[in-house]
Amino acid sequence: MPGLRVARVGGVPVVLRAPVLAGVVVVAWVFAPLAARLGGVPRDARSYLAGAAYAVLVLACVLAHEAAHACAARRAGLPVAAVEVGALHGGTRVLGEPGDPRGEALVAAAGPAASLVLAALASAALLQPPGPGRLLAAELVLTNLLLGLVNLLPGLPLDGGRLLLALLWSRGRSRADAAALAAWSGIGLAGAAVLVALAAAAARRVPLAAAGAGALAAALLAAGAARSLGTLPAAVQRGAPADDPDQPDEPDQPDQHRRTST
Ligand SMILES: [Zn+2]
Repeated sequence: MPGLRVARVGGVPVVLRAPVLAGVVVVAWVFAPLAARLGGVPRDARSYLAGAAYAVLVLACVLAHEAAHACAARRAGLPVAAVEVGALHGGTRVLGEPGDPRGEALVAAAGPAASLVLAALASAALLQPPGPGRLLAAELVLTNLLLGLVNLLPGLPLDGGRLLLALLWSRGRSRADAAALAAWSGIGLAGAAVLVALAAAAARRVPLAAAGAGALAAALLAAGAARSLGTLPAAVQRGAPADDPDQPDEPDQPDQHRRTST
């Protein structure tokens, strides 16, 4: 899948994948009515521009989250091939796996920790009078809270799934067994999320666009979990590199691993 390298930070390429445009459209579509209702933006093209601006802010928050994973991976001695942003998620392509449960947990926890710290810092700006500054602070708090908390759900490919993997691994299971259980947990979470989105839409409790975005996020989660099951080292594909088919422009790397967040 085509990607655009927009920067290189500390030697690590930052890549925007083509679906990022779909993500911007979905976020702008969902956020435009909220910008009109909560931000006082006229309900015309300007509300969609405000939605698109919010989508860019979301991308910046995702990049900050992934940068934290990349820093933690490097501190654990693992090379980082790239930090990527896709439709409604990001990913940090780490070459190799942490050698023990503690390293696995530290790399996994770094992203949500960064998001929650950013949410806490931005919350201080909520005390200012109503205006663009407070709206921006509210957006930062909401986005980073979602990034931090959703990613802590205990199923692969979310960070919480990696924390579950590390916990099961530390309790004596093999890494492959722990990864399989965490991946099945991710598939279960995705199914539950689809049911919640359908029920909320049927009960008209959320806008149809928001339910659709939730269902799309659940589909991405299910695909990521299935991908985790298909790329389990040793257990399923012993000897086969878990390379990223999205990266035809880079040489295959053994044990290449991709972390994904929503
Ligand atoms: Zn993450």
